[in-house]
Amino acid sequence: MLTSAKEILTHAKEKKYGVVAPDLWDLNTGRDYVQIAEELNAPLILSFAEAHQHLISLEEAAVIGSYLASSVKTPIALHLDHGTDFEYIKKAISLGFNSVMIDASMYSFEENVRRTKEVVDYAHAHNVSVEAEIGHVGGTTETLSEQSSGESVYTTVEEAAAFIEQTKADSLAVSIGTSHGVYKNQKNPTLNFDRLHELANTIPVPLVLHGGSGTGDDNLKKCIAGGIAKVNVFTEFTTAALTGAQKAIAEGNLKSFMRVQELADIEVKKVLHHYIKLLTLKEI
Ligand SMILES: [Zn+2]
Repeated sequence: MLTSAKEILTHAKEKKYGVVAPDLWDLNTGRDYVQIAEELNAPLILSFAEAHQHLISLEEAAVIGSYLASSVKTPIALHLDHGTDFEYIKKAISLGFNSVMIDASMYSFEENVRRTKEVVDYAHAHNVSVEAEIGHVGGTTETLSEQSSGESVYTTVEEAAAFIEQTKADSLAVSIGTSHGVYKNQKNPTLNFDRLHELANTIPVPLVLHGGSGTGDDNLKKCIAGGIAKVNVFTEFTTAALTGAQKAIAEGNLKSFMRVQELADIEVKKVLHHYIKLLTLKEI
């Protein structure tokens, strides 16, 4: 059921669990994500990244996401991930996205506030939730997961508090040491949990962790315990889809592309199943 992201994340923050936010890049991944959320009776932030508009249009993502959300009982928010362009964000809202991210974290504090506030004013007038980012979650990925780039800059508590007060954003992506894409050395990153605790104790809105892929289960559990309410995952889904395709090739069943798609879907579902169980910190 299409549900407000603010409602989903406020509940998660109160009850201290995490909601997974996977990026769909086609009908199959969208369907995989929503089916697993429904099966586990878990809320989901079904996301589409502006950076993926060459793979699937905003209009297509809106139709797919709205349909999938309406076809299940579990709460689903339809979210625009890493929106950077105000006109594009307005278009997403007009097409039925009920949650948007404005990522102006690459700009100065003042410019980030200005751009975020502009989106918040518009989105709130349309009953749409807004996620913003402060500090910078760096990294790029060959798979074009999310558009951020460059070095990570940790979020400071003072700036985050002032930012939320001035922008009235509904949730805040913070930078505590994760990075987009896969980690070069394949090792889990070292995260600043002290900073996370300070942020969680000070910032009134739900906190978001970007770059969930490769962060490691122990780190993610600590992040949830430390106050993160939403975790973005993308790269591990593309890796899983590829694993499925490789399994189909290993079977020698190359006559049917359908088998490649079938096994890719199975692997994608396994990853989401794992993360939902991990982040709710209970056996579902
Ligand atoms: Zn991100």
